[in-house]
Amino acid sequence: MSKEKLSKSVYLFGDRKADGDASMKNLLGGKGANLAEMNRIGVPVPPGFTITTEICTLYNTLGREKVIELIKDDVEDGIRFIEKIMGTSFGDKNNPCLVSVRSGSRASMPGMMDTILNLGLNDDAVQGLINKTGNERFVWDSYRRFVQMYGDVVLGMKPASKEDVDPFEEIIEKMKEEKKVELDTELSPADLKELVTRFKKAVKKVTKKDFPDDPWEQLWGAVMAVFDSWMNERAIFYRKLNNIPEEWGTAVNVQAMVFGNMGLTSATGVAFTRDAATGENLFNGEYLINAQGEDVVAGIRTPQQITKEGSIRWAKLASVTEKERKANFPSLQETMPSLYNELFETQHKLESHSRDMQDLEFTIQEGKLWLLQTRNGKRAAAAMVRIAMDMLDEKMLTAEEALLRVEPQRLDELLHPVFHQDAIKKANVIAKGLPASPGAATGQIVFHADEAEKLAAEGKKLILVRIETSPEDLKGMNVAEGILTARGGMTSHAAVVARGMGKCCVSGAGSIRIDYKARTMVVDTITFKEGDWISLNGTSGEVYEGKIATKDPELSGDFGKLMELADKHSRMLVRTNADTPHDAQVARAFGAKGIGLCRTEHMFFEGVRIKAMREMILANDETGRRKALEKLLPMQRSDFEGIFEAMHDLPVTVRLLDPPLHEFVPHEDANQKDMAKEMGITLAEVKNKVNDLHEFNPMLGHRGCRLGNTYPEISEMQARAIIEAALNLKVKGIKTFPEIMIPLTGTLEEMKYQETIVRDTVNKVFAERNDSIEYLVGTMIEIPRAALIADRIAESAEFFSFGTNDLTQMTFGYSRDDAGKFLPVYLDKGILKSDPFQVLDREGVGQLVRMGTERGRITRPYLKVGICGEHGGEPSSVEFCHTVGMNYVSCSPYRVPIARLAAAQALIKEEALSKAGKKTDKKGKKKGTKKALKKMEKKAKKAEKKKKR
Ligand code: PEP
Ligand code: MG
Repeated sequence: MSKEKLSKSVYLFGDRKADGDASMKNLLGGKGANLAEMNRIGVPVPPGFTITTEICTLYNTLGREKVIELIKDDVEDGIRFIEKIMGTSFGDKNNPCLVSVRSGSRASMPGMMDTILNLGLNDDAVQGLINKTGNERFVWDSYRRFVQMYGDVVLGMKPASKEDVDPFEEIIEKMKEEKKVELDTELSPADLKELVTRFKKAVKKVTKKDFPDDPWEQLWGAVMAVFDSWMNERAIFYRKLNNIPEEWGTAVNVQAMVFGNMGLTSATGVAFTRDAATGENLFNGEYLINAQGEDVVAGIRTPQQITKEGSIRWAKLASVTEKERKANFPSLQETMPSLYNELFETQHKLESHSRDMQDLEFTIQEGKLWLLQTRNGKRAAAAMVRIAMDMLDEKMLTAEEALLRVEPQRLDELLHPVFHQDAIKKANVIAKGLPASPGAATGQIVFHADEAEKLAAEGKKLILVRIETSPEDLKGMNVAEGILTARGGMTSHAAVVARGMGKCCVSGAGSIRIDYKARTMVVDTITFKEGDWISLNGTSGEVYEGKIATKDPELSGDFGKLMELADKHSRMLVRTNADTPHDAQVARAFGAKGIGLCRTEHMFFEGVRIKAMREMILANDETGRRKALEKLLPMQRSDFEGIFEAMHDLPVTVRLLDPPLHEFVPHEDANQKDMAKEMGITLAEVKNKVNDLHEFNPMLGHRGCRLGNTYPEISEMQARAIIEAALNLKVKGIKTFPEIMIPLTGTLEEMKYQETIVRDTVNKVFAERNDSIEYLVGTMIEIPRAALIADRIAESAEFFSFGTNDLTQMTFGYSRDDAGKFLPVYLDKGILKSDPFQVLDREGVGQLVRMGTERGRITRPYLKVGICGEHGGEPSSVEFCHTVGMNYVSCSPYRVPIARLAAAQALIKEEALSKAGKKTDKKGKKKGTKKALKKMEKKAKKAEKKKKR
């Protein structure tokens, strides 16, 4: 690429002016865009510049030398800009300009990529800085940090394995031993100077090169290392976990250094405008006097609270007396009241401006406050809901905006079990830490992230226990039920990442002692070994001995309010897939508006039913089958009564038998022998029948409506059981709306044949009982052919339900049962962007769904259409179903709230897109409201009745 063609590669910010602004996140990354915006609204930010994400992408294709050539002049201008504002000079002996070099992608990826601080220091600059500040200790401390960080990030001097110590930390430990001190802060300036010498020696030994003294060489090394870190293993993993595309790249922010370690009037900290764990509207955060940024999050020193209120709460949790708190851990509000006030005003300004909870980094350098970063704060799911609802109450957000602020998938965290009150009362609390990320977790102790991965793959439930966590532990954190750390505060790596993942986390449980080598955790006098069970309460910070029973959560408070709001703003309804009264009740409590799929096959497995079922399968003729089906009828009827009662007043779609019959017979010798005995036939007869049922490809074999069409008596029995159950409940005054669903239809004739069987049976029952109820007969659309001829199928079917599990299987030609062999590889290699069995493939399967819906409605304009495949509870698929114009989605009970929110978001996004007035019907009324839908449904019913007549 020639230089002429390159758009602006460097954006300046400083002195309350900026080239960029908050809207430019794609180009400047989140950090760069926000630094620019902060300048624009008058927040004190050290000057600097942002190298765009486009350059990162170019770097990945053109390489280092070409990229340096392209951006060299602009970067040099950027440094001049910083020098001018700060009155310093890059590499100058007397007044050196020091900078930080940080990554910053579009989406925040905390701790995943690299940062370098104090860049520009060398043996000359050190003297200049000492002369300027008169603070020898601070300068040598900064220098040793710089060499250490640069050595690690740019020169690759990391620990060789997880058991090895960091090569620089090893040198520090040795020095502390020699000097007989315990803390880094007890090392003298001369010791720190000696550390720099030893660090540089170590660098020379490993890299065979001198540590670079030239600041420009340092700068280019750091910029390229940040670009490289976009492709490091943990960043790649984080991107996969959070669906962040590789093409985005990272920006690089070069910014004048300000120092929180310049003595007792300097400090550094991290703050949140609201509580990231609970959502409470309380400014909070942690700081340390005389420290640099990473000290706060690294968990090496115990950080202090920013507000007095927060400090008092912390002391209570940490069992620290008020006297001790005041003496050793006072809040910023108490130690630096006027700076605290300035910080409080600034956080308020930033939150009001961004209209979202902010996560801030600040530094106080010799009594002056600087903001280094602001971004939308990561938060636990409970906090996400509460903040959205509070901001709605505070009129900071509209209802639509509040609904869009909650990620539907994250609601899953709030639907996880919580500890049973009785069990928790009896539990033995062994330690207490900070309630870093809420929830309840029970699991076996594991100390290393890679082992956690292995054990989790074996199906073990684990608690990852670490002294503190680092980005290397990400995979282990991801598979663990919960995370426990001995060190670190509410803003430690463990706390921030766990909240982002929705994992329960207790951090900074100071009383536990962890020995990685011995693989033990000691609390008081008790030793816990790897594999022992412990439990965590991320809401209270308590750690318990052993396994603790859990129970289902409830939809109340802010969550309940959010759900009500979602229903007001959605067009599509949410039903559930349930085949027991218990599941139906759970789903109802979560707001399901009916059952969209009641699979009947599970009902045939329990107790005596399986015997009757096998009798039916083994029968040689229709008479034999009918005899066995007679035994099954009362059981089926009572099953349906239970489910209809649980779903009273709401529709229930019952699917007739679907799976191949071989699934109901035993395949192992011993079980076959038992079956022969039970049935009073020979083992050979059983074996013959099982062999007869063998199919080469059962998924495409004798299943679905093919069963009911070859053995109509099965469909008859099921239709009778459904209608008799409904009539029985009618007598008791319970309203039911059965919808009988034919599975796996591929031709109109198949559907019609089943329809006739069902309607004839129903009419017989009506006549016998001299009573009737309203019911529908419809079909699943699971075979591509059915979608293609949906207009014809709709001649017979009164409703469609897309079975996208089978439809995906048959459209892709991927077996649902065997895809595990190649899908993970396809996802890993990027051949597929997502698993089509989880996220509906809009391009292919989606086309069939859209076409099926449209064609079905050519024949029946008000055809009721839904989805009952796994996709019905996945947010992006729910959005797609909305755009297709479905009446409802149906999903498992625990995904009902997720689907309700996703349905609301789909309508809100649609309305935002179609500018006001565009999508109105003839009478000027807005399409898409619930009222309009109800009207449509009424019309549909009328039309259906007319048709039947
Ligand atoms: C489907 O195929 O999408 C469906 C819901 O049916 P099943 O998963 O029972 O085959
Ligand atoms: Mg199916």
